[in-house]
Amino acid sequence: MYKAPEIISGSGVVRQLRDLKGRVLVCTMEIPWRLAQESLQWTPDQVHMVADMDKATVEALHETLPPCDVVVGIGGGSCCDSAKYLAWKRGCDMVLVPTIVSVDAPLTNMIAVRVDKTVQYVGDIFPEKLLIDYDLIRKAPPELNRAGACDIASIHTALFDWKLAHDHTGEAYHPDVAHLARQCLDELDRNADEVYRVTDKGIDTIVDLFRREVEFCARIGSSRPEEGAEHLVAYNLEHITRRHFLHGDLVGLGIFTVSRLQENAPEWAADLIRRCGLRYTAPDAAPEEIAQALRTLKTFKDNAGYFYSVVDTEPITEDFIQDTLDALCRS
Ligand SMILES: [Zn+2]
Repeated sequence: MYKAPEIISGSGVVRQLRDLKGRVLVCTMEIPWRLAQESLQWTPDQVHMVADMDKATVEALHETLPPCDVVVGIGGGSCCDSAKYLAWKRGCDMVLVPTIVSVDAPLTNMIAVRVDKTVQYVGDIFPEKLLIDYDLIRKAPPELNRAGACDIASIHTALFDWKLAHDHTGEAYHPDVAHLARQCLDELDRNADEVYRVTDKGIDTIVDLFRREVEFCARIGSSRPEEGAEHLVAYNLEHITRRHFLHGDLVGLGIFTVSRLQENAPEWAADLIRRCGLRYTAPDAAPEEIAQALRTLKTFKDNAGYFYSVVDTEPITEDFIQDTLDALCRS
């Protein structure tokens, strides 16, 4: 069942952790822990440094870590997800302190683990309390915080695919939820400059839009409103290269290319992701890798059994790939 989180945001709110009662176990990593301690200066009962998110590692946490009354996740997605796993297994209280807003992990009920380099989801726990400390979040490189905009901007291409699937295959479609998603996209559009500059308002915008998105996706039991073929581009690039990328880079690239394939306001979409500061040229991928990911997109999607999308209706030709790469170069 969806549960709305209590979100406390402000400068220095991380210091509220000092008031926690009972045995406190912190899941963090070296860098976020050091940055948090600059203003926190606190000694909890136990600090666990998260190593990796392999399924076996995460599943061992419950047995290997000492008992606790409260688990605190301080850091990015892996730290929050490790804390979520423990709280889910143990039924204890949980506080999450995201130190970057690059992924929606602090708001979702699922825990992303890796099995042979692919992501699987386990668990089911909606976070109850979040501390959003602006000063702490701004200590991270700005491009990591801007990257969070990708899973809101993706609504643009995802809604197109969802409606397409409904029209062609009869898949369930909820116009009221599509409308709520559209409102989130508009809100991002209005606040793109704040997101780019990582202002207080920009951070609040991302967190609030994640919260709204998680709520309506949970209600219909589907991520259709924010996950369309733009995500397939991201998944295929990671599949082909067997490398891990910043999610915002790849989804940004996916929005750029798929809005063109959909002929769905591609100029507007490119302008939005540019204003949010998404690195949609995917600087860590070679042009040939991007071309290959597009060329094999339909096969990848069919083999992996992913959802219906524009990839099923529009052929990705060599001309399209070349035009898209040229357009990326000019950006
Ligand atoms: Zn995503």
